[in-house]
Amino acid sequence: MNYDYIIIGQGIAGTMLSWFLQKAGQQVLVYDDALPNSASRVAAGIINPVSGRKFETAWLYDTIFPFAENTYHEMEAALGITCFHERLIQNIWPSEQMERAFKEAMKNNPYLLEPTFVKGANIQLNTLLPAWRKKINIKEERFNATEVNISTTGIEYQGVKAKAVIFCEGAQSPANPYWKKLKFLPNKGEALIISAPELKTSHIIKRGNLTIVPMGEDLYWAGATFSWDYTDVLPSETAKATLEAGLKTIPHKVIDHIAAIRPSGPDRRPLVGIHPHQPHIGIFNGMGSKGCSLAPWAAGQFVKHLLEAAPLQQEIDIKRYFNALR
Ligand SMILES: Cc1cc2nc3c(=O)[nH]c(=O)nc-3n(C[C@H](O)[C@H](O)[C@H](O)COP(=O)(O)OP(=O)(O)OC[C@H]3O[C@@H](n4cnc5c(N)ncnc54)[C@H](O)[C@@H]3O)c2cc1C
Repeated sequence: MNYDYIIIGQGIAGTMLSWFLQKAGQQVLVYDDALPNSASRVAAGIINPVSGRKFETAWLYDTIFPFAENTYHEMEAALGITCFHERLIQNIWPSEQMERAFKEAMKNNPYLLEPTFVKGANIQLNTLLPAWRKKINIKEERFNATEVNISTTGIEYQGVKAKAVIFCEGAQSPANPYWKKLKFLPNKGEALIISAPELKTSHIIKRGNLTIVPMGEDLYWAGATFSWDYTDVLPSETAKATLEAGLKTIPHKVIDHIAAIRPSGPDRRPLVGIHPHQPHIGIFNGMGSKGCSLAPWAAGQFVKHLLEAAPLQQEIDIKRYFNALR
């Protein structure tokens, strides 16, 4: 079989890249082994326009968010689903200092609203990803990068030929022989799925480091922890205790405890581009803790780069790490 592109991974990164390639008329084959603890299967899908103690607008948000919103709506229409939910993020202040900082930032940040709200959204990834999976050519198996044969015109893998293979492997990429010299800075996050019938809110609640996201039917996602120092991807008792402490005043029952590794790079910007020595091998990774807002726009950029040779935005281009790959 011949394809234009083989995509490895169908988290939010592989989903967005395959969506834009198919939209541009390319024949795409996706390999995904559907690890249950991959980041996109664990994430709450929050899109938050501000970050940090000063509520600064996130990097390129004014460009990235409208692009993402439009993409999710197009996918909803194409797939017959609803996955994009505009939601207010309601802050419950852990300190007076935070409240003061919010009031100060509100003077010139249109995403902050009286008295404690931020204009956000969340993406229901557990609706979007399976719906897209049904529409694509997919092999539900592990892809072994060491078995790729490279020629002057493209690649061949177990009898399948393509112009290029693009790795969207999330936290698995550091083990990939083509990308192991890239610097990754992955970190582990854990969350609880709780039943809290008394909470009755459609807002995202943010209380210090704990964020609670409505999932429907009295269920909520409550997370997340953040750790650079971990030995495995399993849910841990330490993280559970931290999350439970944050939920102390909310009557709830724990339904599930989930964990995954966030695929981050050292500068917290996506890692996008073609290998300096292998023109038929690419990467689309480094979404960190913002896959839902960054992946649509970054995938749009990458597809224009692949098909029209448009330059990538410098901050996401893996050229910034070419010295490491040489
Ligand atoms: C607890 C937690 C909470 C989060 N909350 C949010 C949030 O609210 N909002 C937000 O925007 N982001 C959030 N994130 C971050 C978000 O999850 C990531 O940015 C995003 O999911 C990364 O997507 P990805 O497609 O790059 O990787 P992944 O989601 O890890 O997907 C990679 C896929 O590739 C497959 N794969 C890998 N290697 C191979 C191979 N060799 N062969 C076949 N298949 C392969 C895996 O099985 C997986 O399906 C959160 C992360 C965590 C851990």
